[in-house]
Parts: sequence; C-alpha cells; structure tokens
Amino acid sequence: MTDSTTLSLASSLESVGETRAIIDLDAYAHNIGVLRASAPEGAAFMAVVKADAYGHGLVECGRTAQSIGCEWLGVARIVEALRLRDAGVDIPILVLGPPVSTELTAAIQCGVTLAAGSWSMVERIREAAKAAGATARVHIKVDVGMRRYGFLPEEISAAVQRLKAMPEIEIDGVFSHFSSADEPGAEPTGAQIALFSAAVAEVREAGIEPRWVHLANSAGIITGRVGPTNMVRSGAATYGLSPSPEVPCDERFQPVMSVRSVVARVSQAPLDCGVSYNCIYRTTADEMLATIPIGYADGLPRPLANQGWFVIGGQRRPIRGRVCMDQTIVGDADDVSEGDEVIIVGSNANGAMSFEDIGPMAATNNYEVATRLMARVPRIYMRNGEPVAVEHLLHDAAVRSVETARA
Ligand SMILES: *Cc1c(COP(=O)(O)O)cnc(C)c1O
Repeated sequence: MTDSTTLSLASSLESVGETRAIIDLDAYAHNIGVLRASAPEGAAFMAVVKADAYGHGLVECGRTAQSIGCEWLGVARIVEALRLRDAGVDIPILVLGPPVSTELTAAIQCGVTLAAGSWSMVERIREAAKAAGATARVHIKVDVGMRRYGFLPEEISAAVQRLKAMPEIEIDGVFSHFSSADEPGAEPTGAQIALFSAAVAEVREAGIEPRWVHLANSAGIITGRVGPTNMVRSGAATYGLSPSPEVPCDERFQPVMSVRSVVARVSQAPLDCGVSYNCIYRTTADEMLATIPIGYADGLPRPLANQGWFVIGGQRRPIRGRVCMDQTIVGDADDVSEGDEVIIVGSNANGAMSFEDIGPMAATNNYEVATRLMARVPRIYMRNGEPVAVEHLLHDAAVRSVETARA
C-alpha cells in the first residue's frame, strides 16, 4: 500500500462515525471455499454480487471473488456489471435477468454476457450488438417454473434455431433457476431438474454445445440438488446468509457482515415513562435507557419495535418502543456508558441478532434485511483483521463539495 492510499484510508476511517457495517472479506472467501467443496467436482463458481452484493459491497466482493479464482460473477442489472468493469474486474459477468437498460451497447462492448430469455430481449440484444459492432455473448435462460424470465421448455428448440442463425449472437451457455430449492421436501425441484435436463439436450440436438450449463443456487448447492451442470451460482450463502430456516448455512459458514454503532446518550427514566414515538413502551420500573444512532432510514426494520435487541458490553439490551428514522432506544442499560460499542447485527455466537433473527421479526427474510442496508451506513472492508477499504458514498460526495467550496 502506498503512503497516499494509507493516508486516505486513515482519513476515511476517521470520517466513518458511529454507525457502520464491517465486511469481513476473509469470511466471504472462506464461505466460497465451503460452497465449492459442496459443489460437484470441477464445477465452476459464479459469485452472485447483485444488489450491491446483497448489501455487502459490489466492488469489494467482486474483486475478492475474482482474486480467489471465481470463474464468473452474476449481477441483476447492466449498471452493476459496468461498475465492476470500471473497477477493473475482468472475469466473465452474466446479467442474470432481462437486460432492460439503455446501457446495452456499452455492456456488449465491455464483454458482459447477457441472458437471452424472451424474443423482445433477443431483439434488443441484437440491435445493441449491431450498434456496438461486436458479437453479443448470451446464455439462454430456460423458465422451468418461476414464470419470471426465460424461454419455456417447449420454446427452446425454436429459440436455439433462431439464435443460431443470428450472426450478432454467440450462444455461450444455458441456465435456469429453481423456484423452491430452499424447501427441501418440495416437489418442484426434481421436476425442474428434469425439465432443465431436457432443455439442455434440445440445445445439443440443435447442434450447439453450450460451454456453460448452470442451474443451482445456494440452496441447491447446500442440499446437493444441482442438476446437469458445470457451474453453480451462489449469492446468499457466500455472505453466510441461510437460504431458508430449513436450508441453513451450517457451522462451516461464517457471517460476513456485522453492523455496529456507538451509544450516543444514556438517560434514566422513572417508572411508567413512555419511550419513543407514541410511547408504545412504558417503563415498568426505573430504567436506564441508551440511544443508538441507527434507525429505519439506515435499514433497521421498523417492526423491531419492542422485539429486537442490540448487544452492548456482551449483554443483550432490548429495543424499547418504536424504531425511529435515525435513532433507536434500548433499555436494561444500567452498566452502559456513552461511547460504548454496540453490535446491531452480528453473530449469534456473541449474542447479537443475526439477519436470520431479524427477518421473521420484520415479516420478511434475511436476504431482504441485508439488501436494505442503506448507503448512509459506511462499509468498512476487513482482511486479516485489518481495514483495507472504506466505502461511504455520502461522505465522499460531501468532501468533494467542501473541497469545491474552498477552491
Ligand atoms: C439471485 C440469483 C441467484 C443467487 O441466489 P442465492 O439464493 O442468493 O444463492 C442465482 N441465480 C439467479 C438467476 C438469481 O436471480
């Protein structure tokens, strides 16, 4: 590391303030290793980094995945792929969903692979390839039951014939997606593997040997249901997020993110004192309260009111009353001081709420809670226990405008 990057890292660490997300890139790399070991021998690995890597940071996770030898990255939007290219990531990237974006031509110029799953999308890809003066590499998406995106099994044969005849398009792969792999007993998975196998056979019968054939997501890898493939895709489990309560990430996996803050204020409330908006919590005795600068505008779900807890000094402190936009109050804070470290989300091992705990309390799943952590929360990336990068878009923009004002 050069002096100037050390300096800027140190000054951005200083700017980070109280509430921050700590991303353990070693844990991320470790989880990918666990998943690879569970996948069929020799299968390639696509690290899915869509939605800002499920809140964990698109660029740093993408770079880490590349550095440990992941063959592919998967994203949902073309801008995510372009951001990775801009950050110097040069391994293959697949846009998993319909490529609805004005940046289609740029995507083809940057060698981003696209999912061909409907005629209108194929036409758009073809037009953009002509404009780019380059061939568009595609993976044919088969819809085996989600009804979300992809050619239906009965359309595959015709789709391959037509795609084959298009000089602007190169067929590089075939893939599909499970609807219910996170429910181990559910009937659709076997049927979906059979439909996908038949579709792959039809592609081959049409004289195309797809280089990449892929179906399984995290739940498919963990439960060993991967279908006929030479690649697996995983997002959730790479971050240590369980696909579902029935398909958990076991003890081999490590949580990648922890969200932390610092106690901003401590106060003593008398008996029967209302706390936070609408006073939906009333103290049942004298109680010490602590105010923490995190709220629903940071991504802490509002339904955690009177349900969730934070860990301060190794002890659980229950959330008292409503979660506010920017602040939350916890109780049982007798031994708490202003400035104490707070674990908002972390590992159950140290008593903290995990994303798996928060999901049901907020009537959603762990994936949604993680992806909703807002850009207002700075991300600090760790390797070997040391911070190696900080991402804080708001801060960077603010510094730029201060510098402009001074100039
Ligand atoms: C999001 C996504 C994945 C990753 O799923 P996880 O459950 O997070 O592993 C894989 N494939 C497709 C098509 C997706 O949209």
